[in-house]
Amino acid sequence: MPGDSLLIAAGLLAASGKLSLGGVMAAVVVGAIAGCVAGYAIGRRFGPAVFARPDARLFRPEYVTQAEQFFARYGALAVISARFVPVVRTLVPTLAGVSRMPFGRFTVYNVAGALLWGVGVPALAYWLGALVPHLDRYILLIVGAALVLSVVPVALKLLASRRTPQARSEAPSPAAGCSSLRQMPRPPQPFAVPDHLPEVTRRLVAEYLPGAEPGPRTRPGALLDALIRTILGQQNTRDAADRQFRALKAAYPRWEAALLDGPDGLEATLKAAGGGLHRAKAAHLYGLLSALAEQAGDEDHPLGLEGLAALDDEDTRAALEGLPGVGRHTANLTLLFDLHRAAMPVEGHLDRLARRLGWVPDGWTPARVARWYDAVTQRTHGARWALHVAGVRHGRATCTPRHPRCGRCVLADLCPSAAILGA
Ligand code: SF4
Repeated sequence: MPGDSLLIAAGLLAASGKLSLGGVMAAVVVGAIAGCVAGYAIGRRFGPAVFARPDARLFRPEYVTQAEQFFARYGALAVISARFVPVVRTLVPTLAGVSRMPFGRFTVYNVAGALLWGVGVPALAYWLGALVPHLDRYILLIVGAALVLSVVPVALKLLASRRTPQARSEAPSPAAGCSSLRQMPRPPQPFAVPDHLPEVTRRLVAEYLPGAEPGPRTRPGALLDALIRTILGQQNTRDAADRQFRALKAAYPRWEAALLDGPDGLEATLKAAGGGLHRAKAAHLYGLLSALAEQAGDEDHPLGLEGLAALDDEDTRAALEGLPGVGRHTANLTLLFDLHRAAMPVEGHLDRLARRLGWVPDGWTPARVARWYDAVTQRTHGARWALHVAGVRHGRATCTPRHPRCGRCVLADLCPSAAILGA
């Protein structure tokens, strides 16, 4: 039963002397605060894992970006007012945790909302109960009416969301929650090149890469090292990935030794070096080394990726993606940085940039945004390297997930989100 009707019933019972009004208010406020803190903790602890899969149907990573934008704009209002809406009051604290709203700020809003709700609603019912004699005799009727009134708006919203696909595609995304963001200009065709793309690239390169050039191509004998370093870097900090790589190289001067040590030995080495996902990364590395050993076929032939240098772009990509633990993004990073091919790796910073600039619709999956970048970006190694590196630096320094620094952004006059997120 929605909490509002329970609070009204408690307030009416307090007015008839059957409950203590102060006790009701204290219990509701404490319970409401604790419930929201639990929701926040669950979102913060499990959110990153739950929202990590780009191909997920329900918990897609872009929803985290949308929640971040929503809370950046409506943080206080969202947490406080959600308290009065059934279902929404359960979801909002969890989303606040997922989007990593600072806990101190969340607590202030949480306590304010709990006080307003936990004191205000029983007090209102108490006042009505005191005003109208014997109102507690109709408590079931009143609770039923409160139940209907609190659930009807949510039910209507759900019904509205079941409109035709056409209408839904034009309608706002419920997860976005921010009407101005939903009205961003849409690309006229799925993969049309945005007018501002060359200018955005030029400004980002001037800001973050003045005079910089790509590093040298990785020599063929070091390609396997580079690929393993890239695998370690996925969902890991750069420092942790570097530590893990150094630990592996110290433990296994040749990768054949790692293969002999097996996945448990690899996992122990990674774990001792710190950083996350030891078991998964150890399994990926063991699978990769086993596949390369199988391809080499000759025990005396050292494990390596020397053959890639002779293949064309598509065959190189296919060979990389055919290896265990190497997905499209890892293959793109290796192609761009180690083999100097015209690949376009797209991760969170570039994905966020395209959405905030209104280049792609909110509802696109990260995989589709990556395909879009690949289609619209100039197909040369230099252009793609520059956009990727400058875009990532921009995402780290300025267009951060939370609190983007729009006031000092070189793209502010081209960006429809500046007026919303920079306010
Ligand atoms: S103006 Fe703000 S939202 Fe837009 S790209 Fe710059 S930092 Fe990002």
